[in-house]
Amino acid sequence: MKFISTTPNEERVSFKTAVLNGLTDNGALYFPEEIPQLPDSFFKNIEQLSDHEIAFKALKPYVSDDLSDDDLDWILKDALNFATPVKHIQDDTYVLELFHGPTESFKDVGARFMSRCLSRFEKKSDKEITILVATSGDTGSAVASGFFNVDGVKVKILFPKGKVSPYQERQMTSLGNNIKAIEVDGTFDDCQKMVKEAFNDKQLRQQVELTSANSINLARLLPQMIYYFLAYKQIKATLGNKELVVSIPSGNLGNASAGILAKHMGLPIKRFIAAHNANDTFTQYLNTGTYSSKPSVLTFSNAMDVGNPSNYERLAHLYGRDLKAMSKHISAATISDEETVQEMKDTMASTGYLLDPHGAVGKLALERSLQSNELGIFVETAHPNKFQDIIVMAVPDHPITETSLDGFHKLSMDNDYEQLRKILLMS
Ligand SMILES: *Cc1c(COP(=O)(O)O)cnc(C)c1O
Repeated sequence: MKFISTTPNEERVSFKTAVLNGLTDNGALYFPEEIPQLPDSFFKNIEQLSDHEIAFKALKPYVSDDLSDDDLDWILKDALNFATPVKHIQDDTYVLELFHGPTESFKDVGARFMSRCLSRFEKKSDKEITILVATSGDTGSAVASGFFNVDGVKVKILFPKGKVSPYQERQMTSLGNNIKAIEVDGTFDDCQKMVKEAFNDKQLRQQVELTSANSINLARLLPQMIYYFLAYKQIKATLGNKELVVSIPSGNLGNASAGILAKHMGLPIKRFIAAHNANDTFTQYLNTGTYSSKPSVLTFSNAMDVGNPSNYERLAHLYGRDLKAMSKHISAATISDEETVQEMKDTMASTGYLLDPHGAVGKLALERSLQSNELGIFVETAHPNKFQDIIVMAVPDHPITETSLDGFHKLSMDNDYEQLRKILLMS
């Protein structure tokens, strides 16, 4: 399997090259040249397969040029060693919980898969790889944990000072060793801009082997497909003659793109809903046919505060930039902060289930759209513990755990690229 650019050029690269490059030569995203099909028998007998076998069969066609069966086997055993349960909430509504990994967001699988791929790829040189990422929260936590103590890999995480939740900050800064969390006196956009500057710094890159682990990386995107295969395995017997709809709280549309890819491999999910907060560039696009990015605004579901969702380009490429074709498989909804908090309250009152703000956006979007001949699953993308300030507001009776930030490892720097450059060269 080769990977090509979403903005066509001559490039046709292997999985390994796509992962190490991050972005294509013309600054676009990598996408599979063709989407492999799984046979009907795979879906017919999916209950008989172990989760590991399902993950292996789904991913093998994408990676087999660069990873042996033994490598993939080892990577998946290590990357996917926690549960992804589907639970009943009410009526025809179910939840897929993707927060049982070490840092309690769905990003754990992608980060763990990518780090283990890097450690299995044949090395170009003896140089250590430096992973450089900017984060607004969950990516940093997942990358820190996923790459912790991985041989030959050093990690530098830039996060905006005072703008991630205390819980997320603790997850990023508590590990130490090969993981350096760097707080920047600036915004997430400033962090992102410095990361880009480092990647464009040719002189720096001769000395430091830089790789990105942002969600645009294929090694983070592809394993997320597995969630939807495993959800189908769990819900299949309950479906009867209803059709399955999945609602995904979305920011950069990485998780949603992975679900759509799984559908194109044959997975019987009728349609997806991309559930957005006020950052609704994608909802607007589906409504108007015009894609127009805008600056992000801060919301209660802050991991989805993205004004220019990077994976839109992958979806557009997949559907040949045909809005009608895309709309058959995916719709979008916009949920406000007020509605989010109300949904958390209502769900707690009627079912006793504690939603996190992202899951609340997903659930409300699902309930607004679900038809009587459909069964719906919304995705819980993070554990409510990560967003205690919102929980306190929405469900004040719920017990919370204290987070102390004392004694953790972090560097601090100004919003100044030269400082970052020094850090990258020296440590
Ligand atoms: C990253 C994140 C999202 C958004 O996922 P995308 O793949 O960027 O659409 C949603 N919820 C939580 C909790 C996240 O951490």
